[in-house]
Amino acid sequence: MNILVLFDIDKTLLRSKLTSTTHAKAFSYGIKQSFGIEVEFTYKAIHPLPGLTDQQIIKHLLEQESVELTENKIKECMKHMEKYYITNMQKGELEALPGTKKLLEQLKQKNVTLGLVTGNIEAIGWKKLEDVHLKHYFSFGGFGSDAADRAELVRIALKKSGYQGNNVFLFGDTPRDITAGKENNVKTIGVATGPYTIKELKDSGANLALETLENTEQILSFLNS
Ligand SMILES: [Mg+2]
Repeated sequence: MNILVLFDIDKTLLRSKLTSTTHAKAFSYGIKQSFGIEVEFTYKAIHPLPGLTDQQIIKHLLEQESVELTENKIKECMKHMEKYYITNMQKGELEALPGTKKLLEQLKQKNVTLGLVTGNIEAIGWKKLEDVHLKHYFSFGGFGSDAADRAELVRIALKKSGYQGNNVFLFGDTPRDITAGKENNVKTIGVATGPYTIKELKDSGANLALETLENTEQILSFLNS
């Protein structure tokens, strides 16, 4: 199949089994190292959090602080986060979501080009996929360390792949994923394995919305249409 299929990572391909995650702690660590400020990363502090890129989260966490958010400082902060994550991530803290392995395997067999669009800093994204044994399906993507805006991450992934919007599909669990796809004329599939319902994903413009990625047949027939 001459198509490109892009996947978000968090709550689309995998999820954390812990309530307090290493990724969340990496934000506090990176910000302390680069800006000397203690911030606690809580899901309530940033609303709505789901679908924000790591750079956007850093900016949100420092919104009330009088610090200068230069590009270099943000880059430095991301480097610290990366180091923290790679050092502290516990094996088995993540799990692949139902159906992902089967779906990726089938897409691979059909020679579909697979890519990532994730708000994760690149090294953190790869580490997460490695932990749930899904890394080998992917070789490129648009990552949160490439740009702050998710639509820009889609553009980056498209550019790397050479595909144009009309032959591209994007899977994600939040309205932010759907909007970023739409902005690039990509067909979008919402999956309700994150905090949003099928209805919310459809309302945000998803071309298809699914409870999980388990129904491989339905997904393949949509990708064929
Ligand atoms: Mg997500």
